[in-house]
This record gives sequence, C-alpha cells and structure tokens, in this order.
Amino acid sequence: MSSEKVSCLIIGSGPAGYTAAIYASRAGLNPVLYTGGQPGGQLTITTDVENYPGYPEGVQGPQMMMDFEAQARRFGADIRYGLATKVDFSDSTLHKVWIDGDHLIESPTVIIATGAAAKWLGLESEQRLNGHGVSACAVCDGFFFRNQEVAIVGGGDTACEEASYLAKLCKKVYMIVRRDELRASVIMQERVKSLPNIEILWNTETEEVLGTNEVVGVKVKNVQTGESTQLDVTGFFVAIGHKPNTDIFKEYIDMDAAGYIQTVKGSTKTNITGVFACGDAQDNIYRQAITAAGTGCMAALDAERYLAEKGLH
Ligand code: NDP
Repeated sequence: MSSEKVSCLIIGSGPAGYTAAIYASRAGLNPVLYTGGQPGGQLTITTDVENYPGYPEGVQGPQMMMDFEAQARRFGADIRYGLATKVDFSDSTLHKVWIDGDHLIESPTVIIATGAAAKWLGLESEQRLNGHGVSACAVCDGFFFRNQEVAIVGGGDTACEEASYLAKLCKKVYMIVRRDELRASVIMQERVKSLPNIEILWNTETEEVLGTNEVVGVKVKNVQTGESTQLDVTGFFVAIGHKPNTDIFKEYIDMDAAGYIQTVKGSTKTNITGVFACGDAQDNIYRQAITAAGTGCMAALDAERYLAEKGLH
C-alpha cells in the first residue's frame, strides 16, 4: 500500500471533472485527477454534440473530451488512470480516498465528479447476451448491425437520439416504449416520428431477449392488450436512463433515494466539509455536458475558497 498527500483530489473525468481540473490547476491547487473506469465519461460513447456552446458545427463527443483533457493538462493538472474504490471522510480535515484498492490519497479537498452509468432492465437474458447483441450504447455498437433489424427500449432523449442514429445504419428500428407517450423533448420526438424505418411500439414491455449465444429476437408484450409478440431482431439496445456512480460515498455523503448527491443550494458543497460534488453525480435534472462543466467550475472555486479559509492555500 502506497500513500501520498495532495491538496485537491478530483474523482472523475467527464466535463465536470476536467473543468474542475482546469480551474483548480489555474488557481495553483496542483490538482490530481483520477479518470475512473471510463476515461472521458459518458461523452466518449456519443457521436455528435451539437448543443455545446463554442462549437458552431458540432463536435464528436470523444474529441470534445480529448480537448477538455488537453486543456487541463496544459495548466499542469496531474491526470492519472485509476478508479477510486473506497473513501473515509470521517476526519473532516483530511479526507482519505483509496485508488484501485492499494494507493491511499489524503487530501483536504475532494471533488466528486463520478457521473452516472447506464441502467439495465434487469432481465436474465439481457445480461447473458450483453455484448452478444445486447448493448447500452448504440453509438458504440450500432455499426455491427448495419442493414439488420434492431430494437431499442426507452422513450427519453437518449433513446430517441440512439434510435435516430440506428435508423441511419439499420434496415428497421423498433422503439419499445412502456407508456403511450415519449418522455423526450419535442424536437427529438418529431425526429423519430419522421423517420420511416422507426416503428414505435407503445405500451410495450420487454419480456425476454431471445437467443443462446447471440440475439435472434425479442419477446415483447403489449401491457394494454396482454398480447405477446416476437420481434425478429439481431440487436437489442437499452436506453432507459442512468444511475449516479456514487455508491462508494454512501456511508458519508447525503444523497437522494436514487443516489444523486445532495449539495447546498447555489454551491457544490456536500454535508462533509471539504468535499464537493459536481456533474451528473449530483444532477438528476439537467444532466448536460454544459451544466456538468459549469458545476465543475463551481466545485474548483468552492475548493479554492475552502483551502484559503483554512489557510491551506
Ligand atoms: P430519461 O430518464 O429521460 O428517460 C428514460 C426513458 O426510459 C423513459 O422513457 C422511461 O420511461 C424509460 N424507462 C425507464 N425505465 C424503464 C424500464 N425499466 N423499462 C422500460 N422503459 C424504461 O433518460 P435519458 O437517458 O433519455 O435522458 C437523461 C437526461 O439527459 C434527460 O434530461 C435528457 O433530456 C438528457 N439528454 C439530452 C440530450 C440532448 O440534449 N441532446 C441527449 C440525451 C439525453 P417513462 O417515461 O415511462 O418513465
């Protein structure tokens, strides 16, 4: 077990974490950032980002995160690969975070920017065939289903965005929607409804993903009529929302029932002094790259002020 002391530790490498790193390094806090298991975060599994200000022609999600990282490195942020596996926030002046189980970091400030991860339906067949036709990322895996028929579950912006993406590659896309309306924004609803090769199955639930070694179909049920049917698809995509990556903080940090970290209104302060939260880990409402980046900036400023108040900076 190795250990070290730093003044500002940032956990997570999406727009929130990298923005916190940019601000913290420019403020002279010498931040250390651990990327987590998915360097760059959720934007690395998306294609076009068209709503981030400053990119009039749009930008690819992975490219945008490489730009964020390069900007943070330019100001001296120490960016490292590794996963925070355990924390001890019982000492309010020096917080302990273990990386990959064997490296201890002690820091008076910790910025939590761990984001969120895709949710699954919880079917045995879904998990068994994960990676063999079942995916939670159309952008990553849609390519494998070119000119084939696929299904996607969900009715939010993500499902609509991914269905539109799949419609460009695949012969046919079934959208499995559990209610009689979509949750997505009007513009996204209109987009999926305008595409001739997307068929929306309303009031429909997934009963089983069919196949032994690969997906050969999906059994769905109309919850109003009780009728079950089989869709002859070779790909099954799940886009039903996300869960915040906050489990390791549960013992110490106040959260809502879904696991989103609660922060003091108008700041990124948590219930533990010196621990700040930003990005999707604490935002179940906006969940945009731009809002994540904004709160990442806030977290770095909050950390800087906290260190100054304590005479540590
Ligand atoms: P949402 O929570 O918005 O939507 C989840 C969808 O999945 C809903 O239609 C929900 O149904 C459905 N669902 C949830 N659980 C199940 C289940 N067990 N079985 C079947 N269906 C289920 O998540 P998103 O990931 O779509 O979006 C998250 C946030 O990110 C939103 O605020 C969204 O606006 C934003 N976003 C913005 C984008 C953009 O601006 N370009 C792109 C993508 C996302 P029900 O409605 O019945 O609850």
